[in-house]
Amino acid sequence: MSAETRDAGYDEFLDAIASDEGYYLACPEGHGSVPPTPRCPVCGEPDLSEEPLSTTGVLEDQTRIHVAASGFEGETPYVVGIAEFGPVTMTGRLRGGADADLDTGAAVVPSVELSDTTGSRMLVFRPSK
Ligand SMILES: [Zn+2]
Repeated sequence: MSAETRDAGYDEFLDAIASDEGYYLACPEGHGSVPPTPRCPVCGEPDLSEEPLSTTGVLEDQTRIHVAASGFEGETPYVVGIAEFGPVTMTGRLRGGADADLDTGAAVVPSVELSDTTGSRMLVFRPSK
């Protein structure tokens, strides 16, 4: 799979999240994965179906970033969170609240927002109201 194909798949995934039609990929064994992926990362099954993504996730972990990756220097410090949405776990930027000192276990909702410095789209988690 080329990088171009991967980006195209990820753009579609972000489009779906942005229009509240988020989905994940499920294999016949019930393993979930985040698009795009050609086969189940757990069992290798290539026959994946799109299933509706839960609209609310549970924050599992978070890390405050002080030294950013190239291109994100102007945004530090920021917080990256890992949230579980049923069978899939996703990584995204935490925004909202105190930007965003959420407790582990807090409910978060996914959205697609723009990076302050690069203007590119990224996955963002905000506290669930
Ligand atoms: Zn599987």
